[in-house]
Amino acid sequence: MIAIDAGHGGQDPGAVGPTGKREKDITLAIARELARQVNATPGLRAHLVRDADVFIPLHRRAQLARAAGADMFISIHADAAENRNAKGSSVYVLSLKGASSQRARWLADKENAADLIGGGKAAATDSMLTNVLLDLTQSGQMKASEDAGNHILQGLKRIGNNHKPHIERANFAVLRTSDMPAMLVETAFLSNPEEEKRLVDPAFQSRVARAVLDGVNTYFTSQPPPGTLFAARAASGAAGGSIAAGVAGGGSR
Ligand SMILES: [Zn+2]
Repeated sequence: MIAIDAGHGGQDPGAVGPTGKREKDITLAIARELARQVNATPGLRAHLVRDADVFIPLHRRAQLARAAGADMFISIHADAAENRNAKGSSVYVLSLKGASSQRARWLADKENAADLIGGGKAAATDSMLTNVLLDLTQSGQMKASEDAGNHILQGLKRIGNNHKPHIERANFAVLRTSDMPAMLVETAFLSNPEEEKRLVDPAFQSRVARAVLDGVNTYFTSQPPPGTLFAARAASGAAGGSIAAGVAGGGSR
């Protein structure tokens, strides 16, 4: 089960493009398209963390994903920068020990502000104790997140220019409470007039979704969650593709 988190929502519009297109609407459209494609893939099922124009506090999003029994958490966003020429997609994973670049730190601060815009309680999840506990429990998740994030970045590279050639790390609140591989995908720059046009184009939304799904497929093929169709395929080894339908039972987790 893939939890797909459409960034922002409700009173938090996220970034706003040159012609007024709102990040929260774009992320929901891409998330829904990704969910559709995931659900059309044997062995995979999608769970939309939000499927309406509503505000959900950042720490609550991972909780909802966990409650749904998700094996992976993907938060969908659209980037913004002062420089209108900035373009391309990026993939971010959690780091509790500093960001991989100034830009990553700045972006995490910006995304984390969603809770303030949403009138949110910035939550006790920010306490030092919580961070220490997370530090202990999440190192395995972080490695898995990096692996999965790298596969998704490779998928995105195939459809166009990436903003950065590698995944980046920073302290994103939406990824902080996750106990599964989790990443944040900046699909393109809403602040770039050409990319704003592209981001609202269903054909582009579909290509982005396909690229993310390719990465997910590659990751789960290399590291199949137990009891899933991916695990059954891996077990059948060279037999590849000859698995009778239903072998994995309810293997759509
Ligand atoms: Zn965002």
